[in-house]
Amino acid sequence: MAEKLPLVPFREEHEIFRQQCRRFVEKELTPHVMEWEKGQNFPDEVFRWVGKMGLHGILIPEEYGGAGGDYLMASVWVEEMARIRSGGVEAGIGMHGLIVLPAIARFGNENQKKRFLPPGVKGEKIGALGLTEPVAGSDLANIRTVAKREGDHYFLTGSKTFITNGSRADFVLVLCKTDPGAGYRGFSTLIVEKGMPGFTQGKPLEKLGWHAGDTSELTFENVAVPVENRLGEEGSGFYNSMANLEWERLIMALGTVCSAQWAFDRTKAYVLQREAFGRPIGKFQVNRHKMVDMAMEIEAARQLNYHALRKWINQEPCAVEVSMAKVFASRMGEFVATTCLQLHGGYGYMREYEIERFFRDVRINAIGGGTSEILKEIAGRLMGL
Ligand SMILES: Cc1cc2nc3c(=O)[nH]c(=O)nc-3n(C[C@H](O)[C@H](O)[C@H](O)COP(=O)(O)OP(=O)(O)OC[C@H]3O[C@@H](n4cnc5c(N)ncnc54)[C@H](O)[C@@H]3O)c2cc1C
Repeated sequence: MAEKLPLVPFREEHEIFRQQCRRFVEKELTPHVMEWEKGQNFPDEVFRWVGKMGLHGILIPEEYGGAGGDYLMASVWVEEMARIRSGGVEAGIGMHGLIVLPAIARFGNENQKKRFLPPGVKGEKIGALGLTEPVAGSDLANIRTVAKREGDHYFLTGSKTFITNGSRADFVLVLCKTDPGAGYRGFSTLIVEKGMPGFTQGKPLEKLGWHAGDTSELTFENVAVPVENRLGEEGSGFYNSMANLEWERLIMALGTVCSAQWAFDRTKAYVLQREAFGRPIGKFQVNRHKMVDMAMEIEAARQLNYHALRKWINQEPCAVEVSMAKVFASRMGEFVATTCLQLHGGYGYMREYEIERFFRDVRINAIGGGTSEILKEIAGRLMGL
């Protein structure tokens, strides 16, 4: 008999790891979510709990306290994080351990890796990524934050907004212009640390979803940043930020599918037990079709994600596939959220049933990490359109 083809990109060791992640999430994190969602910032100690499990260090080499794992392991953690059922918590943890720390591991010098990675992996120091500014998000090349070099320091002036972990971050990777006349080669990334004179971290902003998460403004007034804190070569900032964005987009797409799957499963159980006009509402043909439509969209999004993930892991060009995966997952997520809410009737509108949280949280996927319009532009141009 011919060898069976694998249905998923994951192997046995990944599935064992998945069970560990799931137990941790369901026992230690999800039970607190209702409480955390009432504030705007889940407790800092959660980063240490996650650190104790080794989950911030999946993509970090062992010599800096990490697990030296691969992107498949990291993807398993992303999928299981969706079970926290709070986009704000997932974003805070994911930004720190899956985006900021790996960027330091990839682009940092030896000294930076020794200083920032071990405490980051333990969750004792929290990281953030500062790209977006009040005047420029999609049009990142148009940012205004500048750093002028004088001797051993850069003097950084400008501001960032919508920064995940911004109010509590111990260090932030800040994209700025070090040579405004040099086009894409005029950008650098500086590691700005909490407490540096002139660096102000704003309070969490109020927002539609991600209620438990910290999304804040940062301002820099002539902040003296040692040259030693420059991540990578001077002039490499724009390119390094772009390299990071592809993985960030994949993470968002993978998480959206798993959140949608959770909402689907919950709704399936609900429509089979809730009765109207003498039968379960899921037995009305119109609702059965809605459920099948959702299952179809979720599965299609999952397979597109795995296709993009395989290409990313194989280090093949994958900007088209990653862009398509995120756009498709975002659209699917909104469709699933509104359909699940509708099927729950009035209960869907109530906090207790958690579908309304998914409905609010899912909306960010078409905006954060590159809007759907920008991603279609990227894919379209690469397709020769
Ligand atoms: C909750 C949250 C968390 C975030 N976390 C972070 C973070 O940690 N770090 C960080 O740096 N940023 C973060 N962001 C910012 C996010 O990446 C930006 O909001 C996003 O990139 C869009 O930028 P913008 O908000 O400036 O919108 P704009 O760029 O002003 O876009 C506005 C609208 O115009 C459209 N548009 C723009 N250009 C084009 C075009 N060429 N063609 C067609 N349409 C176009 C966009 O698609 C969008 O619909 C976060 C945002 C939110 C809401």
